[in-house]
Amino acid sequence: MSVVTSPAIAIAPPPFDVERVRADFPVLGQKVHGKRLAYLDNAASSQRPLPVIAAVDAFYREYAANVHRGVHALSERATAAYESARKTVARFLGADSEREIVFVRGTTEALNLVAHSFAKPRLEHDDEVLITALEHHSNIVPWQLLCAERGARLRVVPVDDRGEVDLQEFERALSSRTKIAAVAHVSNALGTVNPLGRMIELLRRNGTPVVVDGAQAVPHFAVDVAALGCDFYCFSGHKSFAPSGIGVLWGKSEHLKSMPPYQGGGDMILSVSFAKTTFNAPPYRFEAGTPNIEGAIGLGAALQYLQGLDRAGALEHEAKLLAAATARLQAIPGLRVIGTAAEKASVLSFVLDGVHAHDIGTVLDAEGVAVRAGHHCAQPLMERFGVPATARASFAFYNTMEDVAALERGVRRVQEMFSRGNA
Ligand code: PMP
Repeated sequence: MSVVTSPAIAIAPPPFDVERVRADFPVLGQKVHGKRLAYLDNAASSQRPLPVIAAVDAFYREYAANVHRGVHALSERATAAYESARKTVARFLGADSEREIVFVRGTTEALNLVAHSFAKPRLEHDDEVLITALEHHSNIVPWQLLCAERGARLRVVPVDDRGEVDLQEFERALSSRTKIAAVAHVSNALGTVNPLGRMIELLRRNGTPVVVDGAQAVPHFAVDVAALGCDFYCFSGHKSFAPSGIGVLWGKSEHLKSMPPYQGGGDMILSVSFAKTTFNAPPYRFEAGTPNIEGAIGLGAALQYLQGLDRAGALEHEAKLLAAATARLQAIPGLRVIGTAAEKASVLSFVLDGVHAHDIGTVLDAEGVAVRAGHHCAQPLMERFGVPATARASFAFYNTMEDVAALERGVRRVQEMFSRGNA
């Protein structure tokens, strides 16, 4: 019998299978302190699959050279791979062109770039920058610095007790003074997925451009910048299964073309004389100096890997992990989940009566369970919830119900140890 398959069917990824994807992540197979590793610190940094390791390895073994300058074979190959990664990122984000993709160190650098090159020239005395109460420090501090420099104000939209942004307050905060908004797609500390569609609609109606911090969104679900309708979007490689020290700023062409350079140096110029320098076109205008070539190549490989997965199936799997972990931890007396938004990515922050978050983290580590403990670079948000710190378990698609069980066992052990200590 002959079977005719359409090309679409032929390239559809196989249904999500956690055991199969785990085999792609060698680091997950190890033991830590003699225990099976349950890596639940993915919101800080995720693990890297074999194709990323292979892509970086091939660069070092076969064609390590600088980009854009060499006339020799290795440099030409490195340039082709670097620029091909840019095309992969553009396709991944639904950008109009790879010229809208700027390689940066990470989300932090992307946000600083937008603050410096886009917002600064547009911000005058008494103008406002709009953010929300759940932002990471990297989406607070650059705006504070900018506001101080320009005599402008930082306006912060509050979150409610569940950790959801108050949309009415958001709308009320908008005025002719709001010159830029900077909002997280997903909160790293609580997992809240912001209602970006509605927020961007309100901002557009107000004529306010918006930069979206997508550091915690890209690792979990597909992002389409055209559908979102934002002006800038950024994310970090190391949270998206790619190398550290590489990240992306996507910006609309019209914006990037209007922006002055962020840093000066090689590669970002067309010509230099002591009298006058002319600058290269975007994205190169914003990539001064030798870039993180192997990082970009590794990032391209990571995004291709993600595109080869059944992402809807992966997201469903993560949702099940989050639901199970939430139910199991909430059943522990004295444990409080911080962040209970209706729409959440797989991030679970919690506090335990009478135990500091760092102690939770340390005891869990001894059990092979890696979580984050601290303020998660979101101190104002911790203050909003009246806690100095939380313990945070953050899941990726390669985590399993066994990891959830190890987390629960570990937290019960923490409680046992500390209640014994207090007796
Ligand atoms: N924004 C969010 C929401 C984050 O989670 C992080 C990293 N924790 C950042 C920004 C900063 O990212 P990076 O350190 O990779 O620049």
